[in-house]
Amino acid sequence: MSYAYDTNNIFAKILRGEIPCNKVLETEHSLAFHDVRPQAPHHILVIPKGPYVTFDHFALEASDAERADYVAAIGQVCKDLGVQPGEGGNGYRVISNAGNDGVQEVPHLHVHIMAGRMLGRMLE
Ligand code: 5GP
Repeated sequence: MSYAYDTNNIFAKILRGEIPCNKVLETEHSLAFHDVRPQAPHHILVIPKGPYVTFDHFALEASDAERADYVAAIGQVCKDLGVQPGEGGNGYRVISNAGNDGVQEVPHLHVHIMAGRMLGRMLE
C-alpha cells in the first residue's frame, strides 16, 4: 500500500508560504496555527512539515525525530493554551480525521486541538 500525497492541498500551500496562517508554534518538523473555522474558543491545528496524508501514514513512515517533534509540539500547544487538566486547566480534545469515513477535508495530516468549552461526549 502506498500513500498518495497531493502537493496542492491547502496545508502544503501554508507550509510553502503561499497562503497565510495565524501561527501559534513552529518547530523543526511541525507547525501549529488557528483553524479558520473554529469550533471551540480554542481550535488549533497542528501539522507535521513532511508530506504525510493521515495519522497512520505519519506513524508508520515518519522518522523518529519527526514523530518526537510532532508529539512534543501538540503537548506544547496544550501547555501554551493553559488547558492541561493536570496543571489547573479545564481540559481539551485532540482528534485527527482520516479519509472518507473520517470526513477528512484537507489531505495533509493534522490534529485538531479544541478547548475552552464543554465539548460533549463523542462515544457512549
Ligand atoms: P478536517 O476535516 O480535514 O479534519 O479539517 C480540516 C480543517 O482545516 C477544518 O477545520 C477547516 O476549518 C480547516 N481549514 C481549511 N482550510 C483552511 C485554511 O486555509 N486555513 C486554516 N487555518 N484552516 C483551514
